[in-house]
Amino acid sequence: MVRELTCIVCPKGCQLRVELEDGAVKSVTGHTCPRGLQYANDECIHPMRTVTSTVRATDGRVVPVKTDRTIPKETMFACMKLINATVIELPVSVGQILLPDLLGTGANLVATANME
Ligand code: SF4
Repeated sequence: MVRELTCIVCPKGCQLRVELEDGAVKSVTGHTCPRGLQYANDECIHPMRTVTSTVRATDGRVVPVKTDRTIPKETMFACMKLINATVIELPVSVGQILLPDLLGTGANLVATANME
């Protein structure tokens, strides 16, 4: 089986071709640096994503947020459900942890803006 991927590690966006056999990566071509090779392996075996979203505040405004590390792609739907159900008190500051250890992923949901 062959998968065609666009590397999202940097803006160059190299087109990767990954050959898979029995669920394992057999070969990768198209990458122009080691980070692309790592991305191809991770994406095919255990894809991870950073979540960026917003959380509602009690006054009706929204606070931009993100996870402070990547989380398994398969947990994104459940994490977004939790994030959408969350309402926080202001003020918050950049980097403040709003939801620690998001659904046991080890990633914290943090504010990405200062809001009074
Ligand atoms: S393979 Fe390397 S150069 Fe190409 S997009 Fe990925 S990180 Fe950037």
